[in-house]
Amino acid sequence: MKEKKSPKKSWIYYYVMTFIVVVLLNTVVFPFISQREVKEVGYNNFLEDLEKGKISEVAMGDKQIVYSIKDSKGNEKLYKTGEWPDDDLVNRLKDAGVKFSAEIPKQASPMLNFFMTWIFPILIFFILGQLLSRTLIKKMGGGGNAMTFGKANAKIYVEAQTGKTFQDVAGQDEAKEALTEIVDFLHNPNKYSEIGAKLPKGALLVGPPGTGKTLLARAVAGEAQVPFFSISGSEFVEMFVGMGAAKVRDLFKQANEKAPCIVFIDEIDTIGKKRDNGGIGGGNDEREQTLNQLLTEMDGFDGKKGVVILAATNRPDSLDKALLRPGRFDRRIPVELPDLKGREEILKVHAKGVKISENVDFNTIARATSGASGAELENIINEGALRAVRMGREIVLQEDLEESVEVVIAGYQRKGAVISQKEKEIIAYHEIGHALVAASQTDSAPVHKITIIPRTSGALGYTMQVEEGEHVLMSKDEAFNKIVTFTGGRAAEELVFGSVTSGASNDIEQATKLARAMISRYGMSEHFDMVALETVTNQYLGGDTSLACSNETATKIDEEVIATVKSAHEKAINILKDNMAKLHELSAYLLEKETITGEEFMNILNNK
Ligand code: ADP
Ligand code: MG
Ligand code: ZN
Repeated sequence: MKEKKSPKKSWIYYYVMTFIVVVLLNTVVFPFISQREVKEVGYNNFLEDLEKGKISEVAMGDKQIVYSIKDSKGNEKLYKTGEWPDDDLVNRLKDAGVKFSAEIPKQASPMLNFFMTWIFPILIFFILGQLLSRTLIKKMGGGGNAMTFGKANAKIYVEAQTGKTFQDVAGQDEAKEALTEIVDFLHNPNKYSEIGAKLPKGALLVGPPGTGKTLLARAVAGEAQVPFFSISGSEFVEMFVGMGAAKVRDLFKQANEKAPCIVFIDEIDTIGKKRDNGGIGGGNDEREQTLNQLLTEMDGFDGKKGVVILAATNRPDSLDKALLRPGRFDRRIPVELPDLKGREEILKVHAKGVKISENVDFNTIARATSGASGAELENIINEGALRAVRMGREIVLQEDLEESVEVVIAGYQRKGAVISQKEKEIIAYHEIGHALVAASQTDSAPVHKITIIPRTSGALGYTMQVEEGEHVLMSKDEAFNKIVTFTGGRAAEELVFGSVTSGASNDIEQATKLARAMISRYGMSEHFDMVALETVTNQYLGGDTSLACSNETATKIDEEVIATVKSAHEKAINILKDNMAKLHELSAYLLEKETITGEEFMNILNNK
């Protein structure tokens, strides 16, 4: 969200303008109007009107006579004329029964006059100002809260209704269950306070990016039908010292007024990082102040009132311990990557808004997308719809979704890429090498598709394997077989062309990573047994690891990693040596077709 400009200048401007206009109205416009209301007539006209008995009231002013006439409808009209030496006037006025005095009759009622000159213009300006500021705020993308001027300029976004419910969140049943209690509490805080139960003040949603943490928080607000205050951690950390803390104070003040409600702090790790890493530079101090204020506010507010604080992060390990202690974010709700069933459901949820063929098999797509987050699955559906449009179709087909799985995993097809025949041949052998090795081993996922169409991501071809069911455990054999499959591409190149290429760089990276994890984290090495040699520092973001062992052990780990990959490589070479005829046959077929299905592959392999 963009920074809102402080509107203070326009307030001063607005007051000055009001003042000027009021003065103008009083000195120029109204006198002008009222002057026109009093008609100037000759003395003879006055005498005539007096004789005809039309005049109801007369006043002697400073060298002028002002008199009023009531017309047939009862409206009073004012006239004035110059004073004339007329000694008999008083008697004649008496005879005519006219009220006369030295006071000029009021030209309009005093109340109306006051209203017209002072209240009316101010009112107009107030309404104008309100309209203006409202449209301005709308233009700047802000929410309803127009009166935050001077309040630390807090960008707090309130939504009366998020419009999301738990139905919009597919899978994630455990998380939903944990949040149902909070929904119930928000519906009926009294039920809990009467019995003396305190609900946790805060719940922390943790999980990898794109798994629906933000979505879940909004769904809780939607289910409970309460206002939803949301702010992102990064918005607290402002350029000026003290602003962050002021915002926190503001946020909680507003939330208290609107209770029951939900306060959602997205990406709380930005302010909630551990405070121990010696503060150098002002930025850190600012963050600490903000965090301290947050802790104070969380302790300070009344838990029975119905304000629930939700926060989300994908780096729970980096959070300050103080945030996690009881009474603060003591409830931790994991929002994990979806499993097979979850993926299928997420695909279905997002397919609802898309015209999609009834024959689409979401299960296949779900099986092909192991490890994909909800956001990625949403993207797959959208890419599929875009492809259907490109193809001139009005409905999304299975092939659109399969292609978009590849787009999301491997990038777009590089249509214009020119690859020499020789290189294409190498790529074909490489991919068939992977596929053959995979197919020759038990415990490895069936081949679903092989392609040598280059992708924008840089992949020159790839072999897609689709697991048959969901796997949560990986045996030592499976892990080793995976490494063998990774090395299968390079092995085929060596056997057929007698040389190696750079095409295997990604395979090498993955094989090494897996071999390392087997030894240092999965306890799959005989030498080290069940000793944790590495710890994952960042579970949800890439899973970075840090060594937790001595240098000598680290050297030994390296040696074992090398030995593991080497023996896997040898195994791959042996498998391919035994299947040379098939390797040639399949590679020629792939070279011709560029993309083949797992079925075609298996048919040729089994001589069907
Ligand atoms: P996070 O906050 O965990 O990074 P988001 O809540 O922003 O992820 O999710 C991004 C988008 O991905 C959501 O707007 C939603 O469309 C989609 N999405 C993620 N998880 C799910 C899910 N379980 N069910 C349906 N849609 C999901
Ligand atoms: Mg988010
Ligand atoms: Zn490869």
